[in-house]
Amino acid sequence: MYEMEKIKSNFTWIAGPCSAESEEQVLQTARDLSLNIPLSYYRAGLWKPRTSPNSFEGMGAAGLPWMKKAKEQTGVKIITEVATSQHVELCLENNFDALWIGARTTTNPFSVQEIAEALRGVNIPIFIKNPINPDLSLWIGAFERFQKVGLTDLSAIHRGFSVANKLPYRNKPLWEIPIEFKTQFPDIPLLCDPSHICGNRTLLKDVSQRAIDLGMNGIMIESHPNPDSALSDAAQQITPAQVAEMAAALHYRTTSLTSNSAEKLQILRDRVDALDADIIDLLGKRMNVAREMGALKKDEGIIIFQLERWKEILESREAWGKSAQLTETFLSAYLEAIHKESIRAQNGVMNKD
Ligand code: PEP
Ligand code: MN
Repeated sequence: MYEMEKIKSNFTWIAGPCSAESEEQVLQTARDLSLNIPLSYYRAGLWKPRTSPNSFEGMGAAGLPWMKKAKEQTGVKIITEVATSQHVELCLENNFDALWIGARTTTNPFSVQEIAEALRGVNIPIFIKNPINPDLSLWIGAFERFQKVGLTDLSAIHRGFSVANKLPYRNKPLWEIPIEFKTQFPDIPLLCDPSHICGNRTLLKDVSQRAIDLGMNGIMIESHPNPDSALSDAAQQITPAQVAEMAAALHYRTTSLTSNSAEKLQILRDRVDALDADIIDLLGKRMNVAREMGALKKDEGIIIFQLERWKEILESREAWGKSAQLTETFLSAYLEAIHKESIRAQNGVMNKD
């Protein structure tokens, strides 16, 4: 049994498997979670948006009665992902209590509009995941489409973003985006989905704690009775007992820390980390091009250092540096270093035989 005082009651917990795989798995997971966590909704994906058509794409409509049965047996409300108007119809016929819009769907305004139209006049709670790309206005646009057809019970789910240099995450959290969302829409509940941010089990607790520290209003987490054998997202799922253990170990807060300067500093540090990772990655790519030039010059018998070209580089980069508000001292030190390294890279190719 869960300790209510530890697991905050005005906090939304949504948990369940990535995918409904069998009646037994759906019912067992529902039972184990509902006995150990104050679940607001039991989740399971029926139609799975997978990267490859060769992956398990969900049980589809066959899983509808399993979810219905899980609700009857546990008394917990049920939620699943809808991506088309047909999914919406089937879920409404099967008494789903809420629906979520997946990250790939939020990316596509045509799909969001189709789902919104199918829900006109039905005031069911909708949870909207952020789009896979870091585009806040696209996320907000999805909310507007549901608001326009009269839906009022809308929540957001932050599940991270697919960007370059996302390690150690599967989808980089880019916390500044959900924070900006919360700043613009303080009354829309904002949940965190640590499972799809992490893509593994080790980071789940840290990401969940961070979300709570930022004042988020709940967590959607994937749970499977035997995670290693899950048909989708095996690496990130945890057992119901592990969800309960994590939920009890988290520190809940009564106020949002987003106004706290330590938290603001951490967000700025995260941005610096991301930018430095990008800069280093680009420098690596630049040196690879230098090596290719070295190889070409070697084949053609051209000398490496060419004064005219170097002058041209200095002039154009100094102008770029100025518009980027970099000082001349910094820029010339940078150009000097990069030039030397580039010559070394080209020489390395020249002297290799
Ligand atoms: C999911 O919740 O199983 C899912 C597919 O999530 P997302 O849309 O965030 O990738
Ligand atoms: Mn999943």
